[in-house]
Amino acid sequence: MIPLSRPSISGKELAAIRRVLQTRHLAEGPVVAKFQGNFAKFLGTRYAIATCNGTAGLHTALLALGISQADSVIVSSFSFIATANAVLFCGARPIFCDIDPDTFNISPAKIEETLKMHSGIKALLITHLFGAPCDMEKILRITKKYNIFLIEDCCQAHGAKYKGKLVGSFGDIAVFSFYGTKNMTTGEGGMLATDNAKLKDRCLSIINHGRSSRFIHSSLGYNYRMTDLQAAIGLVQLKKLKKLNNARLKNAKFYLKNLSQIPWLTLPIIPENTLPYFHQFTIKVEAHLRDRLIEYLRKKGIGAAAIYPLPIHKQPLYKGLNLDKPSQPIAEEISKNVVSIPVHPELKNKDLIRIVNAIKKFKQ
Ligand SMILES: *Cc1c(COP(=O)(O)O)cnc(C)c1O
Repeated sequence: MIPLSRPSISGKELAAIRRVLQTRHLAEGPVVAKFQGNFAKFLGTRYAIATCNGTAGLHTALLALGISQADSVIVSSFSFIATANAVLFCGARPIFCDIDPDTFNISPAKIEETLKMHSGIKALLITHLFGAPCDMEKILRITKKYNIFLIEDCCQAHGAKYKGKLVGSFGDIAVFSFYGTKNMTTGEGGMLATDNAKLKDRCLSIINHGRSSRFIHSSLGYNYRMTDLQAAIGLVQLKKLKKLNNARLKNAKFYLKNLSQIPWLTLPIIPENTLPYFHQFTIKVEAHLRDRLIEYLRKKGIGAAAIYPLPIHKQPLYKGLNLDKPSQPIAEEISKNVVSIPVHPELKNKDLIRIVNAIKKFKQ
């Protein structure tokens, strides 16, 4: 079976974990501090704060910005559900926004329409989906014009660039995930990044039970810390990130070249000025073909999935909430068309050829 995703782990990660185990310092300690420092250096932000996972990072980012019951936050309808759930964790209201059908990312035009339609919007939470940067020039113009916070969900886009600048360095605060399938992993894990010292201090407090100093707690917080074991893996993975990302891009380019003559599928595009690192390689097919193609590939031993088969606002959880119910026609349509195929760095050349040949032989 060629899996849809597979983490790249070598003896280096094993050795790093062994070293931490031998120190007997297993929870948050010096290795987390080093990982934070190296991550901030990589990203070019002043601060990086490690968390136990990306979802906790999103929750912490929103709390640090002061998002509470009275507030609304714009989120993309087409993302992993954690993006919107983090807004619910704060008691705030997610306001869904439609996407661009070519990039799968939140549409700047739709963001502005949404801001005109609603009052009380305090922040925009964008997702750089599948490793592809959002249209940052237009988005920054909008957040400045309407004076709202910008949070970047970079959970799928470690290392991706917009006009030569890394995603995660544009907004007030950014969040990364190191879940097992992500471009770099610590099993579970996350990272916050910001240039703002006040936000950094609030994040550190929130992830440590709201503490203001040792054993003094001035607000309600959580235990959202990372462990040194996770950080030890993260340090190795961060060093490898460029290599892992280049392998993803190379695999994607193989597909872009070798699947270009197939009339029944639409390939992803790489917008000018962007450097995406394909967390997913997502093709579009007509709705009636989606599940048949996935089933066919799986029978041939090739992992494939519809990511995501339901936009967030159509998830049972969100349908049950008393939110505004405007439709997001593009996200609703696209979710019926998407098929992700393996693009991870562990793929061999023969795997890529096998996948291309299988797709070419699919009888639609
Ligand atoms: C993975 C992911 C998250 C959540 O990260 P976890 O580390 O799994 O909690 C949030 N948003 C997006 C877009 C993701 O892909």
